[in-house]
Amino acid sequence: MCAEPSAAPKRLLLLIPTSTYRTEDFVEAARRLDVDLVVASERPNALAGERPDHLLTLPFDDAAAAAAQMREYARARPIDAVVPVDDVTTVAGAVIAQALGLRANPVAAVQATRNKLEMRERLAGAGVPAPAFAAFAVTGDAEAAARRVRYPCVLKPLVLSASRGVIRADDAGQLAHAWKRIAAILAEPDVQALGEGAGQILVEDFVPGVEVALEGLLDRGALATLALFDKPDPLDGPFFEETIYVTPSRLPEASQQAIRDTAARAARALGLEDGPIHAELRVNARGVWLIELAARSIGGLCSRTLSFGTGMSLEEIILRHALDLPIATLERDRRAAGVMMIPIPRAGVLRGVEGLDEARAVPLVQDVTISAHTGEELVPLPEGARYLGFIFSRAVAPAEAEAALREAHARLRFVIG
Ligand code: ADP
Repeated sequence: MCAEPSAAPKRLLLLIPTSTYRTEDFVEAARRLDVDLVVASERPNALAGERPDHLLTLPFDDAAAAAAQMREYARARPIDAVVPVDDVTTVAGAVIAQALGLRANPVAAVQATRNKLEMRERLAGAGVPAPAFAAFAVTGDAEAAARRVRYPCVLKPLVLSASRGVIRADDAGQLAHAWKRIAAILAEPDVQALGEGAGQILVEDFVPGVEVALEGLLDRGALATLALFDKPDPLDGPFFEETIYVTPSRLPEASQQAIRDTAARAARALGLEDGPIHAELRVNARGVWLIELAARSIGGLCSRTLSFGTGMSLEEIILRHALDLPIATLERDRRAAGVMMIPIPRAGVLRGVEGLDEARAVPLVQDVTISAHTGEELVPLPEGARYLGFIFSRAVAPAEAEAALREAHARLRFVIG
């Protein structure tokens, strides 16, 4: 019997920064599809010499140069879709897609998600509920700023992520202290390289309430909610360490609807149209407030909590969407799922991790992954932006998934010297 001649596989360009946790999950999803996978990173891959057409080096911080390089590449090897992974590649991804004539978010919209002041301005302009804000030059007069703002407030850099440099202040003294700490972070060479946004500090009203994270997919401007996560640990500062995420949300349906509506309004206000979004929102008696919206999927290894239909991963949905391949369903597996991003308890060098077997043996715990390496220098928030690892759980009810994470975490001991 002779098979139908099959069309050439589509070619997918994945932009994978070296700092990401997400390489394995995206590459695994790409392998499941019949695609010609091209992976680009900002540093040369050790195997690039053997696979020069498939392992590229692109300057993610110079999107125009990256796009010029890809336009040249695509002459001989046309690209069907570009998928940026994590915050640092989103702008380059949009610029490359535009240069290649592919469907993608408008570049200006993606740029707005990468600058917290611009995001606040766009949200305010469209009337999306978000904290009142003011921006100050980091070299400016902190005392004058301290007199101008309301308390409690939150100080933050414009251009960083993962809560790095985000600090609450309840009075002028705390503001002065937080200001100095952020100034030191902004002076770091990796931050300076991010350009002019690194010269400013944003000060916002502190929004009290519970926080949720919405994972969504935009398709030609329409937002589908893929998952809504509760964050059951209070996030009241002074630093805002992410710990536990649990889905589905236990909030009343009316609140969940308001959250979905606010996220959709925010995406529209920013001008986003296509691909994954990850939004953080707060809910209190006065309504739903947009804290942040990024044009990417959930970070760390947290996507491993999600499974759609008969077992499709979030990454496969994102790739299928970008490649215009069919997606059977966006319905999440009905079970509750949780993840704990294991916080760094204190600064020092990681000497070892004890209790892993005991933590993995906790009922309902699916896995415990330690991503920090022995010998690694650990930097807690607000200066750092990494986790020790991740604990995953599944259960019938969200409360059980949450309890299992806490129990597993209690069994782990991190030896820090
Ligand atoms: P990043 O992009 O670095 O994660 P965010 O602006 O999202 O920075 O802030 C990180 C966390 O800090 C939020 O998830 C939230 O918990 C807290 N946070 C930030 N801004 C505010 C605010 N205005 N009011 C209350 N909490 C805030």
